[in-house]
Amino acid sequence: MSRIAIVSAMHPELAAVLAWLPQTQKHTVAGREFVLGRWHGHDVVAVLSRIGKVAAATTATVLIERFDVRQVLFTGVAGGVAPLAQVGDVVVASAFMQHDMDASPLFPIYEVPLYGRSHFATDAVLTAELALAAKAALAQGVLDAADLTDMGMDNGQVNRTVQVHQGLIISGDRFVSTRLESQRLQQALPAALAVEMEGAAVAQVCHDYGVPFAAMRTISDRADDDAHADFLKFVDQVASRYSAAILDHFFTQRSR
Ligand code: SAH
Repeated sequence: MSRIAIVSAMHPELAAVLAWLPQTQKHTVAGREFVLGRWHGHDVVAVLSRIGKVAAATTATVLIERFDVRQVLFTGVAGGVAPLAQVGDVVVASAFMQHDMDASPLFPIYEVPLYGRSHFATDAVLTAELALAAKAALAQGVLDAADLTDMGMDNGQVNRTVQVHQGLIISGDRFVSTRLESQRLQQALPAALAVEMEGAAVAQVCHDYGVPFAAMRTISDRADDDAHADFLKFVDQVASRYSAAILDHFFTQRSR
């Protein structure tokens, strides 16, 4: 039976899923706890990768080599870089790249040396399924606009409806937490919707093994001077509600 992996970087991003996942078995490999279970009849393995590209790549490799996963889903939070990616929105990745990869002048900036590419596309079918699940979950209201207003995170847009976007997510080993850095990223990479610290690494490992990969990130902050405070509030209070609600729709859709 084909097993699907559910990966988040940090516990608050996956807490609701881990608390809920029934009939689990746990295995520790490389210091990470891999939780095997079933979700609406599907074999899943859930794991926390820890933060950053190396930690994420190790986790993805163990999932494929030791747990024989045939598909990988990443769910977590990210900083919004494009103006449209506001706190509370969901971004489903169509591709990833590393914004801190630079082996120039030997290779063009952003290109991963010896791969001849900077972008790693996500799997089109899996991504479409995830986007559908995200839209269905948001339509049922994972988060009220009032929740964001209560947290002081509505960016002055009271009652704005949260949205699902699809596009490029950029990854790097930096928590982007100044307006200046966020603006620089936006100018250098205008297609980028959101920034985080793991996705491009998992995308590259999945590319190497030919394993389909999809990812969704809820926007926890705007990668600006308020990013740290907004991030902390969001991960604790709402991040895993999104993961649980969207994945529940995802596995329900699959069972039909
Ligand atoms: N533990 C630290 C910060 C964690 S790093 C703290 O509590 O202060 C942030 C995590 O969320 C990473 O896993 C990354 O993928 C994601 N993330 C959210 N907002 C981000 C941003 N503005 N820049 C980079 N990564 C971000």
